[in-house]
Amino acid sequence: MKNRLLCALLALGLLALPGCERVPDPVEFTTFAMDTVMSFTLYGEPDRTGSVQVELSKQLRSLEDMLSVTAEDSFVYAVNHAGGAWVEAPDSSVLALLHDTLALCQATGGALDFTAYPAVMSWGFTTGEHRVPSPEELEALAAKIDYTAVALSDWAGPTRRGGIALPQGMEIDLGAVAKGYAGDRLAEAVRDKGISSALLDLGQSTITAVGTKPGGEPWRIGIVDPTRPGSYFAVVELADMAMGTSGGYQRYFEQDGVTYWHILDPDTAAPARSGLASVTVVSPSALTCDGLSTALFVMGLEEGTQFWRDHPELDFEAVFVTESGEICRTAGLEGRFFLAEGYTDREVTVLE
Ligand code: ADP
Ligand code: MG
Repeated sequence: MKNRLLCALLALGLLALPGCERVPDPVEFTTFAMDTVMSFTLYGEPDRTGSVQVELSKQLRSLEDMLSVTAEDSFVYAVNHAGGAWVEAPDSSVLALLHDTLALCQATGGALDFTAYPAVMSWGFTTGEHRVPSPEELEALAAKIDYTAVALSDWAGPTRRGGIALPQGMEIDLGAVAKGYAGDRLAEAVRDKGISSALLDLGQSTITAVGTKPGGEPWRIGIVDPTRPGSYFAVVELADMAMGTSGGYQRYFEQDGVTYWHILDPDTAAPARSGLASVTVVSPSALTCDGLSTALFVMGLEEGTQFWRDHPELDFEAVFVTESGEICRTAGLEGRFFLAEGYTDREVTVLE
């Protein structure tokens, strides 16, 4: 009570006391990058938040310039059009991203495969000119998806250079991990500027929480109901943590009554039909969230749960929603996962 009175006086500017600081107004801004709207909320001194805004926009532009599959002067475009030749990475952080992505492809046994790009293109997900490839075409495309055929120089630390080479006819796409990678990089930039409270929404359900809310409460982030993408069925509390969701509802087209979405099963080169409607991953690494949400969507509930049990070193938790509407979450989300208003009568299976 006494404390509240002190804070009220402080808010009115009548008193200045240590330990009862006024919460500054957040700096909020949005930008369009990586094909999506991103929005950022930063708490801090105005001189700091101003320079962070410039820094984040600069980093996003530079990541886009390197990772775009369509811009003819990007690094990824150069790799995809090198005709099998070796291409040097522009800097060690890109090399680190390639290594981390390849490691996730290996860990997931190819459920995540960054060489799926020719198939993604063939379905028209890059251009928006959607089409359903023939069974023969899909067979040929699936045969060319193979992360094990990628040659990547050894990771020898942040000061070393290196590169990548793909067999002729193969192409990479970092679309499944790029927003997560950007989330980790931007969070690092925010912390480097001395900001300890921020929420970075990279769009398409990839979010990084820096610290807590200014009062010390965790950030509360909703998970989209895949059957009603305007509503949230659950809330996850995050502090210094990232969250990413992949779902068939995010990008899709319909033809002859069938829905085709943008997450492909590398084994078939066709949309992954594992019985899941969405997968959400929570982890300190946004790259892990982004890459694994895509991979677990391909694996399905059973295989995905076993993957979670088998890989504690990847340090993640998950929430699965099946196509029949079942909600399952891993045990590690205890105390951090709550059903949202309007969904509190739903049953949640806890995966152990
Ligand atoms: P979004 O980009 O909408 O956030 P995801 O993170 O799930 O969604 O990534 C999907 C994108 O990754 C697709 O648009 C495609 O470019 C690429 N992709 C699709 N399936 C796979 C896969 N199995 N492995 C790696 N990349 C994939
Ligand atoms: Mg992803």
